[in-house]
Amino acid sequence: MEKKIQLYNSISRQKEEFKPIHDTHVGMYVCGPTVYSDVHLGNCRTFISFDIIFRYLKFIGYKVRYVRNITDVGHLLDDGEDRILKGARLQQLEPMEVVQKYTNGFHAMMRIFNTEEPSIEPRATGHIVEQIEMVQQIIDNGYAYEANGSVYFDTLKFAQSTGEYGKLSGRVIEELVAESRDNLKNQDEKRHPSDFAIWMKAAPEHIMKWNSPWSIGFPGWHLECSAMSTKYLGTHFDIHGGGNDLKFPHHENEIAQNIGSCGCHPAKYWLHTNMLLLNGKKMSKSDGNTISPLELFSGDSVHISQGYSPMVVKFFMLQAHYSAPLDLTDEGLQAAEKGFKRLMEASKILSKLQGLNAGKGSLDEEMIGLADAALTEMSDDFSTPKALAKLFELVPKINSLGDGKLSLNDVSDTALDHVRQSFHGLIFDVFGLKDEQAGENNAVDGLMNLILSIRQKARANKDWPTSDEIRDGLKAAGIVVKDSKDGSSWTYE
Ligand code: AMP
Ligand code: ZN
Repeated sequence: MEKKIQLYNSISRQKEEFKPIHDTHVGMYVCGPTVYSDVHLGNCRTFISFDIIFRYLKFIGYKVRYVRNITDVGHLLDDGEDRILKGARLQQLEPMEVVQKYTNGFHAMMRIFNTEEPSIEPRATGHIVEQIEMVQQIIDNGYAYEANGSVYFDTLKFAQSTGEYGKLSGRVIEELVAESRDNLKNQDEKRHPSDFAIWMKAAPEHIMKWNSPWSIGFPGWHLECSAMSTKYLGTHFDIHGGGNDLKFPHHENEIAQNIGSCGCHPAKYWLHTNMLLLNGKKMSKSDGNTISPLELFSGDSVHISQGYSPMVVKFFMLQAHYSAPLDLTDEGLQAAEKGFKRLMEASKILSKLQGLNAGKGSLDEEMIGLADAALTEMSDDFSTPKALAKLFELVPKINSLGDGKLSLNDVSDTALDHVRQSFHGLIFDVFGLKDEQAGENNAVDGLMNLILSIRQKARANKDWPTSDEIRDGLKAAGIVVKDSKDGSSWTYE
């Protein structure tokens, strides 16, 4: 399959052909969740988007190492309190209990949305040694200084000597000064207000702290991603992702740390997902403009008229490009529910179609063209909405072939196989959608086949008590088994 992907170069802001650093192997790092509360739908949108990018790269033949971290220390709130420690204080739990609880919840939600696990999921607290080493390298290179046991990145010196600070977010140092709120409490220790802490000295009552050459303390939030991406993907890798709220200061500071420690730009491409909105406004817990994934699935929210299944929600998200804002509305979800059903029905019909087994059909060219166009759209900066639009152009053709409005003599089986590869490949392997009802039915069918084959063996061995026990047990569960000379079948009572 063709591997010509077009991506935006985030520094030059030009679209260009994606060329992996190591030919067929792609390294991708995505900033993972800070695990101090339940994952919200905005987070889900970002992680679903990168899951699809991960899957598409594999689909077209790349080997991908996908690293997505768990932030379990150092991500401070505006008032300077560590998010994990706040979670622990409010819930009266050990910090690591908080981390485990919300990591488990995050994983469960990712499974509900049928996303794949990343190749490596490192935790910040498991990489304190690497972070301390990186702080030392940055100090040795003259881009960081110690003050009262904390270590600060010298942004002014870095900006003046490398010209690199602010390029990703497109800001100049004066703006950065005005916006920098990092570690407000210790502004007097910094040489310049936009300097940021890469190691923080811990107060005596602080729980999560480690020994270091400078103090007993903890690493700055930005540092973990620099240290862990370098450890698992090398000093220069292909793709770095995250939500666009992380461009500044998090990603800008990551770049500064990587260049400051080893002189290398960490990533060739930076991909940023845009924010999920609710009824046109930023989702926010404080003004009630929020909805949790579980409320969305159950319909238990003032913002929606009914519940929507996880696959409908995912399909809804795919209708917008990852880099565009997406507004979650009841009407949008209702339309998505209809669209998703149509897509699943067409995919079932497509599986069963049988065309000419020799020669060409008059519909071949058009159908192959649409299937290929869907892949071309995905290769253009992973445009899920445009790829879906091409698949939806195929839907009426598939339906008409299914109900006889178009003749199966006008399409060859080779062409249908080609269409199936893109259509099913994109829907199931790349987008990770699944027909929820079919899944349930398949599971019941599979279980019943297994149970009846065990009963059949018992009957062949004249083990009547086991055979009867299975039949009676199934009856109690509302399933009737009928025996005939051809074997056993079942129905719901
Ligand atoms: P956090 O747990 O806050 O560190 O966020 C985890 C990821 O979700 C980051 O990549 C954020 O940029 C992203 N994110 C946070 N809020 C939203 C939102 N409303 N829409 C899309 N992505 C978001
Ligand atoms: Zn990060």
